[in-house]
Order: sequence, then C-alpha cells, then structure tokens
Amino acid sequence: MLDVRDLHTRYGRVEALSGVSVAVPEGHIVSVIGANGAGKTTLMNSVMGVLPAQGDVVYAGESLRGVSLEGRVARGISLVPERRELFASMSVADNLTLGAYTRRRSAWRADLDEVYTRFPRLLERRAQLAGTLSGGEQQMLAIGRALMARPRLLLLDEPSLGLAPLIVRDILQIVRGLREGGVTVLLVEQNARASLAISDEAYVLETGQVKMSGPAGELARNPELTASYLGG
Ligand code: ATP
Repeated sequence: MLDVRDLHTRYGRVEALSGVSVAVPEGHIVSVIGANGAGKTTLMNSVMGVLPAQGDVVYAGESLRGVSLEGRVARGISLVPERRELFASMSVADNLTLGAYTRRRSAWRADLDEVYTRFPRLLERRAQLAGTLSGGEQQMLAIGRALMARPRLLLLDEPSLGLAPLIVRDILQIVRGLREGGVTVLLVEQNARASLAISDEAYVLETGQVKMSGPAGELARNPELTASYLGG
C-alpha cells in the first residue's frame, strides 16, 4: 500500500534521512523503532508531505511526488502527530468534527458514531474540553480525529508517548483493532517490545538509515536488537 523508496530529508545542511526505504503492505501494521533523533518523526512527516523530501513515496500504486498535504489526506492518508496537536480549548466533539473538515456532514455523521462506538470514553466526555482530558484520553481523541478523515493508511507517531504502561497497552490494542477494521498502519514507537508484539513487520532506524528490518516476530528475537532496544 505504501512504498517509500530511497528517501532523503534534510533540515538545512543536516541530512536527517539518508536513503530510507520502507514497505507497508495493505492491511499490515509496520512499526519503526529507533533511538531519539534516529529520524522516525522525519519519516512520518516526509510521507505525509509536511516536509519536502527527495526520493519517492508510492501510495496505492501512485507516486505522491508533487501531491500536497491536503491531496494526501484526500487520498486516504492520515497522520496522528507526536504532540497530538489537539485544540485544547475546544470540546471533544468539536475536535472530532474538525478531523472531517474536508468532508460533508452527511458523509461523516456515521463515522462520528463509529468513533464513539470505538471509544466510549470519548462519547461520555464529548462536551469536555480536550485540554482537560487525561493523556490516554487525549491520545484516543487524536486517533479518533484522524479516523474522521476515513484513512486507509494511518501514520501514528509515538501514540504511547508519556502514557503509563497500562494505558500504553490499551492504546496498542486500539491500534490492533484498527487493522482489523481494514486500516493499514505505519507506527512509530519507542516502546519497541510492545509495538513489535502487535506488528507484522518492523524497521529499525539508526541515524537516518534502516539498520535492520524484517518480520516483527523475528526482530523481537534478534539478539542485537534485544541488547540495544528491548532492554536485554
Ligand atoms: P524522537 O524519538 O526523539 O522523536 P526521531 O527519531 O523522531 O526522534 P526526528 O525528530 O525525526 O527523530 O529527528 C531526526 C534528526 O533531525 C535529529 O537529529 C533532529 O535533531 C533533526 N531535526 C528534527 N527536526 C529538525 C528541525 N526542524 N530542524 C533541524 N533539525 C531537525
């Protein structure tokens, strides 16, 4: 579904991605793990078209070269950014509706119900201001808002950032549920072991390059990876 080919992304003179290739088959969860500063967020933003990059991003068989961020959203790609970027002083319901800003009300009404079915907590708190939600609830809202664009490919940047271990498990179960609902997921996670457990394939990024890749189950047993990323 997504084929990232030889991607190079720079911030001025600094090259943050140096020839990264990543394949995300339809219906899979593919995780990208790596230390701080490895280039994971840069990869997500390059795929989304937030950052200009060299190389090719092929989505559903079509090159996204020259396609704007809005064009990518319209084609079915949605990003849940690392900082969640919710509208803190707006209600849960309004944050969700904003996720569908490119679509007609008649088209997204049913999706709103679906998000509330998936996240009953958001339904309970639909009138609450987003800024007053707990960390886990905010992450649910960020994912719910992305789902309002009806994505086929969801880019999730560190969904478990700052969350307690039990909530991390809930969030990753939610991600697994998305795949069951037919959404393809590219997942960036620091929590390597937990993300490998729900992923089909994984890539290890190190200073802007793919250091290792393969089926998630194999990587989880790889001694080199175990020592560096999986806590021994
Ligand atoms: P983390 O896990 O800490 O979020 P990451 O793997 O997502 O890290 P990136 O945020 O993609 O890493 O950063 C990759 C490299 O690019 C880092 O060396 C970082 O300092 C650099 N970088 C990121 N954003 C910018 C920017 N706006 N300007 C200059 N350099 C940047």
